[in-house]
This record gives sequence, structure tokens and C-alpha cells, in this order.
Amino acid sequence: MALRLTRRELLAGSVSAIAVGCGGGSNSPTGPTSTVSVTGQITDALTGGPVPGAILQAGADSVQAGVDGMFEVTLTPALARVTIAAPGYVSRDTGLRAPGPHAVVSLIPVSFDLQFFDELCRGYSGSGSSLRWMQPPVLVVESSVVNWTDSYTDVELGRTATGEQIPGQLIDQTVAQLQRDLVLLSAEHFTGFASVERRTSPVGGRSEIPSGAIEVAWERGLAAGMTARWGRPIDAYGGRNLSETVSQAKGRVALDSVQFADMSPVSAGRRDFVLRHELGHAFGYGHTTVGPSFMFRQLLGVSARDSDAFKVFFQRPIGNKAPDIDPSGFAVNATA
Ligand SMILES: [Zn+2]
Repeated sequence: MALRLTRRELLAGSVSAIAVGCGGGSNSPTGPTSTVSVTGQITDALTGGPVPGAILQAGADSVQAGVDGMFEVTLTPALARVTIAAPGYVSRDTGLRAPGPHAVVSLIPVSFDLQFFDELCRGYSGSGSSLRWMQPPVLVVESSVVNWTDSYTDVELGRTATGEQIPGQLIDQTVAQLQRDLVLLSAEHFTGFASVERRTSPVGGRSEIPSGAIEVAWERGLAAGMTARWGRPIDAYGGRNLSETVSQAKGRVALDSVQFADMSPVSAGRRDFVLRHELGHAFGYGHTTVGPSFMFRQLLGVSARDSDAFKVFFQRPIGNKAPDIDPSGFAVNATA
């Protein structure tokens, strides 16, 4: 009996000692003045290569990265606000968690067109900050032609299905193109839609967009309705809701059911441009006031400037603002 009690005491004592070791996060005694070391690398947002000699400022302290962009900074345990500056690059304000994993911190080269980036990537939220899909959306393809309604921008509003059907071959072509565009517009961060769901709503049924999905549909009366509304020919549109709650995001790509019913190669060429532009809207990209850009004119291809913008957009968190300020609460070395 006495022996068993002793064993229990020993066991309890060793567990307690381990718990103290884990809680401290290091072998040194913890206290209000203790610090921890965080390592990282400063990289070029476009090339991915190292940025040599960047200065990382954390409060009154600063460290300089090596020629390989590597740095080590000592911080008090917290989510520290840091500024990183380097010649030829836009200074970035971000958060660094200490203790935390190795940080890779990308900087935007000054040659990058920030004004263009603001229009393309930061205008859609209405707050001048970036807002994007954080995970690949589901693609819902509606094969029943639906009726256009005047509330065309409202992704929450369903559409009433007609008895008309879109040919399977046209749907296959459209899905294949949207898959390619998803990869392109996400700078290859997404390798494809989370899934592709084909839907055939019954006549009179309402085609609604589930959360986390982008819907593509052919709408009867879209061209006539939009042209009358805006006074210029419009036969497609794209949109998304502005929720920052990512799991509730919804997007829409709508094509006029007559203008985009043609299977000919000529119309397919135009459809490719239009789909990419409207998927751009569903992605959160806004119109630009200057070209070349696929969001400047509907029938322009993706430019080198667009591609650079996609790369930066997908390296930044929701809420990133001009010139390159990450939101408070964000840590560059914490997984999302
Ligand atoms: Zn547009």
C-alpha cells in the first residue's frame, strides 16, 4: 500500500515538471521580461527570390536581414507589429507571432503598379481593402435556362428556371474553361474548383447559389434587360457578395441565353474572354481605368500586369490595404 502511494506521487511530480517545461516554451525561466527568437526570410512577392538587407523594425528594435534575406529577431511573446523596409521595395506593415514558426515575408517591388492593384484587387470591398476567396469555391452549373431579373447583382436571389436546356457539350466547354481560368486568376493557388455540381432546376423552380459556390447560368432576357437598364449593349455579368465571412461567400457568372448559346468557334472565342472577365468579378476583381487588363475591357486577355497582381493578391490576407498594410490580428507566420 505504501509503495503504490509513493509511485503515484512520483508520477504526479514528473507530469507536473513536464507541464511547466511546455508552458515556458523554452528551457529558460519565464517571466514578464523573457524574450523568444523568431526566424524568417524576406522574399520578392513577384519572383519569390530573397530580398537582401531588409530592415525589420519591431517597436524600438530593429534587425537587418542577411544577403539571403534571412533574419532572426528577438521579441517578447506576443503578436508583434513589425515594419519591413528594403531599397526598391514597398514597406510592409504586418504581424509576427512570437513564439511562432519560420516566417516568409514577401515584399512588393516598387516597379509594381500599386494604383492598378488598388483598382483590380482592393476596390470591390468598398473599404479599399482586399477581399478574396480563401479556399477554392464549388462551381455550380445550371443547365436549365433561368429568367433574368432586374436584381441582377443580388447573389442571394434565386432565378426561376425555364424549360429550356443548355446543351451538354456547351456546358462541358464552359466548365473546362472556368477550371483553367480559376487556376490562372488565382496565380495557381487554386488547382481547381472544390467540386463541380451540375444542376437541372425544374421548370418554375428557383435556382439558388449555395454558400461557398460560384454559379454559372444562362439567363433568358439578360441582354435585353441589361441593355435597357444601362443604355449600352451588355450580355453578361459577374458578381459576388461582399461578405468577409469567407464560408458564406457566393459568386455568380451569368450569360445571355441567346448570345451565348452558339457553339461556333467564333462565338466560343468571345465566350472565352467574357467568361474570364465575369469570373474575375465573381473572384472579387474590379474594373480598372487603364489597360491592358482583362478587367479593363471585356474582350482583352490577361496581361502581365494582371498576372503580377494575381500573385500579390493571393499572398495577402483579407483586409490588406494600401500601400501594403496587413490588418491587425494577422500574423504572417501563423497558418490561416
Ligand atoms: Zn465587368
